[in-house]
Amino acid sequence: MTKIQMQVPLVEMDGDEMTRIIWKWIKELLIEPYVDLKTEYYDLGLPKRDESNDQITTDSALATIKYGVAVKCATITPNAQRIAEYNLKEMWKSPNGTIRSILDGTVFRAPIIVDNVKPFIRTWQKPITIARHAYGDIYKDVEYRVDGPGKAELVFTGENGEIRQTIFDFKGKGVILGMHNIDKSIASFARTCFNYALDIKQDLWFSSKDTISKKYDHTFKEIFQDIYDQEYKLKFEDAKIEYLYTLIDDAVARVIRSEGGFIWACKNYDGDVMSDMVATAFGSLAMMTSVLVSPDGYYEFEAAHGTVTRHYYKHLKGEETSTNSMATIFAWTGALRKRGELDGIEELIGFANKLEAASLRTIKEGVMTKDLAALSETTNQKIVNTRNFLVEIKQRLDDTLS
Ligand code: NAP
Ligand code: MG
Repeated sequence: MTKIQMQVPLVEMDGDEMTRIIWKWIKELLIEPYVDLKTEYYDLGLPKRDESNDQITTDSALATIKYGVAVKCATITPNAQRIAEYNLKEMWKSPNGTIRSILDGTVFRAPIIVDNVKPFIRTWQKPITIARHAYGDIYKDVEYRVDGPGKAELVFTGENGEIRQTIFDFKGKGVILGMHNIDKSIASFARTCFNYALDIKQDLWFSSKDTISKKYDHTFKEIFQDIYDQEYKLKFEDAKIEYLYTLIDDAVARVIRSEGGFIWACKNYDGDVMSDMVATAFGSLAMMTSVLVSPDGYYEFEAAHGTVTRHYYKHLKGEETSTNSMATIFAWTGALRKRGELDGIEELIGFANKLEAASLRTIKEGVMTKDLAALSETTNQKIVNTRNFLVEIKQRLDDTLS
């Protein structure tokens, strides 16, 4: 078989611990035998980040701007314990935070669905993708603990003077909070969501609490609506998808009753909370993919889970592990498919689809890692170790390709 040729390299961001091992095996077993893989390699494993004073993380994000598509392995975000473990020069920042701030992106998280692994919500049949606004609100707020009587005011000093509003006349103890957002960030969030909906051809929902928050949340609603009407309405009609704005209370009720298959755009706090709820209700963190999309159209694909430290230590001791590689495989297929679309390489798109299908079929046929066994309805399961799960996928992939 001749290997599929690529034109433009993927930006490959390697990572840490168990996911670093899975990463190598996915390439060796599931990609390199079929694709003449072109990547520009950045080792974001903690030792290399430390050695380069974290410059390598910045470089990998800049490469993503240059080439357009990246695939990232999970990485350790160092804490005090990791500083000792890896003898680090500094407590380096979260690589995802660094990359996100350079690409100015929105994170879309979607579950991978298999027939025999049932979500806790019986009606859900298709993925629900959460898009979380990643700027401002309570994550950049100012708070004050009021310890006695006094008047709290909201003061804005602009070029034309001062505007003052009473927040509350305190008779005793209480709390105050001030938060903000900016139109530019809301607008880029809105455009990223509209573009992503067109990209994957799914409806877009956006929810807030505009009936109560008549200026703050109302501004979000208005910016989304204006951009939709002016820039996206016709494109959505052509693609036969819909944009729906609704109150967050109504959205929650609709999400639970729905069968899935849409993108739910959420304000920062709502997205933080709702993505954990949706991920848990779908069954497993190991089956959740994540893609960072920038307003300029750069993509970074990854798994939503971490480096699976507990399994890694077992692996180091020579014990058998059964780590689920689905989300990392889907990060690779997402990136390869996007590269295929951008470069017009049908074969690469086809390969990504076939690899995903072979992975899903493996689980459907009852071959799975330990984490899925408890959730699956298959009676005669075959529980496999980390590497054999990939070998089983490879057998099915070879089957479809021949
Ligand atoms: P984690 O790596 O996601 O693992 C937490 C637990 O979830 C595991 O111990 C395992 O449960 C289960 N799990 C997660 N992924 C799995 C998979 N693919 N297959 C099977 N089970 C899986 O989270 P963590 O232990 O809190 O964090 C470990 C490291 O990852 C930390 O250093 C953190 O900084 C980093 N992290 C990185 C990212 C990222 O790069 N995007 C995200 C989150 C965390 P059992 O042990 O019960 O089997
Ligand atoms: Mg959260």
